[in-house]
Amino acid sequence: MSSKVRSCNKCILDSNDDYQITFDINGICSYCEKFDKDYIFILNKTDEEKNRELNNLIEIIKSDGKGKKYDCICGISGGLDSSFLAAKAKEFGLRTLLVHFDNSWNSELAVKNVEQICKYTGFDLHTYVVNWEEFKDLQKAYIKSGVLDWEVPTDHALWAVILKKSKELNIKHILIGANYQTEGILPSTMRYDKADLKNIRDIHSKYGKLKKIRTFPVYKFWWHMYLKWFWGLKLDTLLYYMEYNKDQAKQYLVDVVGWRDYGGKHYESIFTRFYQGYVLNKKFGYDKRKAHLSSLICSGQISKKEAIEDLQNPMINSDVLQDDLQFFLKKMEFTADEFQQIMNQNPVPHLAFKSYSTFEYPLLKKILRLLVIAKKIIK
Ligand SMILES: [Zn+2]
Repeated sequence: MSSKVRSCNKCILDSNDDYQITFDINGICSYCEKFDKDYIFILNKTDEEKNRELNNLIEIIKSDGKGKKYDCICGISGGLDSSFLAAKAKEFGLRTLLVHFDNSWNSELAVKNVEQICKYTGFDLHTYVVNWEEFKDLQKAYIKSGVLDWEVPTDHALWAVILKKSKELNIKHILIGANYQTEGILPSTMRYDKADLKNIRDIHSKYGKLKKIRTFPVYKFWWHMYLKWFWGLKLDTLLYYMEYNKDQAKQYLVDVVGWRDYGGKHYESIFTRFYQGYVLNKKFGYDKRKAHLSSLICSGQISKKEAIEDLQNPMINSDVLQDDLQFFLKKMEFTADEFQQIMNQNPVPHLAFKSYSTFEYPLLKKILRLLVIAKKIIK
């Protein structure tokens, strides 16, 4: 086996990390190729076409919201993507309910930024405050189990709260901050499926102290599918159709909304800052900035040279990291030795635990395939 590290000719991903990366004859990596393929539907559109589609989408959301208190729901973390989206929703005249999942790891700045967004937009805010003892037990179970994606409990619960609110208030549109421009490239080895409740429950049952998690918000993936396919829930990725440039979006938020920058993508949460800025790299060998910067290269926002220069900066300021580590240990009730041991353990794959991937997902795929065949026969 050759140990030579191969770099992509376009982005800054390389064969050094475990991305299962491959290269074409021009030296372009499989992630760049996937980016072009996945987003061809939008990359080939002119600004005029994008604008027209954006306006159409806004009209549909407004029309579906007629007679209701809200046109749409938007999850808000205080981070760049969701803050920008919420501010734009205001400008588009969408009557939006903001939903915030407070997992008790918000930085002070995040709290202020969410306040600023509410002030600027005038939108109502629904905040779900998690039961900390339960959530801590769940997060600790993830940490002790050796699995990679420590963000699953937060991301799963946020989505559960949003789905519940949309059903309860009969809101059929959810604005999501997902965008190809700043996060179109994200190797699947760097994250895990957030919908896999079976995995969450099994990890907790093996490593949690509490017997059962009772109030933690959860949803089953077939419920999500029912809402999307039968109830009429729509996930709207408005940022796809906008000029969404990271630096310009930040400047806009600073100037117009009074928002302040965190110094890193998703650093609005102290947990996320510590996880992405330290754990993911030290324990699992990933530098998530490489994926983010590669997305910016592929969407034409920065040059490869700029990305490489950016990567030379430390992932996180060392004083901040020290403070975060102490805060993390105290809040999670780990001793420094205990945590060091966890960091030294070998990673354990998520699929070492029960998962929908073993039965439910393949079954669903089969059913969908049959439905497609049946539809063809009926035609
Ligand atoms: Zn590439």
